[in-house]
Amino acid sequence: MRAAVFQGKGRPLAIETLADPTPGEGQVVLRVGRCGICGSDLHMAEGHTFSFEIGAVPGHEFSGEVVAIGKGVSRLRLGDRVAVLPFLSCGHCKSCLAGDPMGCPKQRIMGSLGVNGGYADYVLVDDIWCVNLPNSLGFDDGALVEPLAVSLRANRVSGIRSGDRVLVLGAGAIGLAAAFWARQSGASRIAVSATSHRREAMAQAIGADAFITPEEGRTLAEQSAAALGGEADIVFECAGVTGSLDLAVSAVRRRGVIAAPGFCWNPDSFSPIWAMVKEVTIRYTNVYDTQEFEIAVRALDRGHVEPRAMITDVVSLDDAPAAFAKTFSKWAYRVTIAAGMPPTME
Ligand SMILES: [Zn+2]
Ligand SMILES: [Zn+2]
Repeated sequence: MRAAVFQGKGRPLAIETLADPTPGEGQVVLRVGRCGICGSDLHMAEGHTFSFEIGAVPGHEFSGEVVAIGKGVSRLRLGDRVAVLPFLSCGHCKSCLAGDPMGCPKQRIMGSLGVNGGYADYVLVDDIWCVNLPNSLGFDDGALVEPLAVSLRANRVSGIRSGDRVLVLGAGAIGLAAAFWARQSGASRIAVSATSHRREAMAQAIGADAFITPEEGRTLAEQSAAALGGEADIVFECAGVTGSLDLAVSAVRRRGVIAAPGFCWNPDSFSPIWAMVKEVTIRYTNVYDTQEFEIAVRALDRGHVEPRAMITDVVSLDDAPAAFAKTFSKWAYRVTIAAGMPPTME
């Protein structure tokens, strides 16, 4: 099979021919339908804190069709179309049985640490982490489920209630998905804050009421309060950059909640006094469980397909190295790689 392979920090990916995967017990092979290029893929290719090892096949936001089935697989059939929680795990510990792959002591995240990801024609996955796609959804939708599920976890722990004012820091996929779920949860006003206007139309399409960029002479807290008609009840910290936790605290109301799925790779300084004075709750979240994947699939299936606005481009697997390099320079994520698809479908 073809795969886009990591060649080292600062070097472009290269298309290489690798052995086709064969399914072990409890595993299936997928023909990859679509795979998203994630901001964390770009971070890892740059070698920020964590790095891919040379020879890695990145990609953890993928969907595909089951083309081979291993022993002991009873849930899936050939031809099933699925979105996948991108983990290999033991499959029988308490966490695995609860649908929580991150909690498995033997879990390995796909796309790094020696487990090939979705920038390839085929990918080996565990049966238990596949979620079937209904007929209403395509592989594009399937590749959006993973980032949607990341933000859904943050939405659920935030305790958001209908009528809440919501500020989202960051307009990458996780921030945009946070705005989507806030809308689904009945937020009264949603403002998304970013460093430039580039994703403003996307944010509006997905459900944001206001889009905030830095303004001379006004603090983010002032801009947010003006956009929301008051201090934010909930802030979703999805920027993952140093300083954003302080900004979140500045904009949230007394006894408000900050939910933080943002990946901040660098040490950050933080002034606890303001969080303490306001009695702010800060909740970090990491990935998702199978239930959150299923909720995301159901939301799209019910016709809430606004997240499709996040897809900026679709490229073939052969063009993936060039698209990856371009995405690097522009940081316009959500390019989806159409692996294994005939050209007419690209
Ligand atoms: Zn991702
Ligand atoms: Zn396990």
